[in-house]
Amino acid sequence: MMKAEILEKARKEKRTLLTEIESKDLLKVAKIPVIETKLATTKTEAMELARKMGFPVVMKIVSPDVVHKSDAGGVKLGIQNGTQVGKAYTEILTNVKKHYPKAKIVGISVQKMARQGIEVIIGMTKDAQFGPVIMFGLGGILVEVLKDVSFRIVPMTKRDASEMIGEIKGFPILKGYRGQDPADIPYLEDLIVKVSDFVDKNPEIKELDLNPIFAYKDGAMAVDARIILEPVS
Ligand code: ADP
Ligand code: MG
Repeated sequence: MMKAEILEKARKEKRTLLTEIESKDLLKVAKIPVIETKLATTKTEAMELARKMGFPVVMKIVSPDVVHKSDAGGVKLGIQNGTQVGKAYTEILTNVKKHYPKAKIVGISVQKMARQGIEVIIGMTKDAQFGPVIMFGLGGILVEVLKDVSFRIVPMTKRDASEMIGEIKGFPILKGYRGQDPADIPYLEDLIVKVSDFVDKNPEIKELDLNPIFAYKDGAMAVDARIILEPVS
């Protein structure tokens, strides 16, 4: 979907939370790398999408009422064939209905399974004084437990992005720790600037979360995305 359609649909439905698919569609236009993701509303459709994309795939709940999809049993990774697509479809719906009996279910997303990389996150929140602020950090346990993140005010230069990456305590992990592949740091710098430009040009966005992004020795790929819009007054 195009930006205007996505915003109009959200407003009509009185939602400020965009679905993962809507969020990824907006990001793709801004040339921010997101994993290919499509919406299925039936099991058959999910199987067709998976076959077209190529296995392995990932399936996730698409619901405006489910923000943390894996906590609700709404994410299945490494699906290898049509039979597993069918099984995952049923299981995801059962799990989510158990956690959120009243959740409005839009469908289930089918996405390509990205190869594993170093998990990083890029986020944006708005500060009452400074406006949009970009956050960068390592993903997973490192950000949740250690809060190892850095912040910069929008708009950002590549120099700001470079400093921001170098500031986190986990930086040695990105440089390639104990024989692990390093991350493509210039690529991450460009990516942070792209996100900064994106939120600068789209003031209707209140919050943004790319969590996680897989950082590779060559490039990076966001596998989850969440955008919250400003309320309309
Ligand atoms: P949540 O809403 O719980 O944050 P995510 O979409 O982030 O759900 O999925 C949970 C985890 O599954 C991610 O942190 C990531 O490690 C993995 N994951 C999600 N999507 C993909 C994908 N397309 N390819 C590979 N791994 C994925
Ligand atoms: Mg996530």
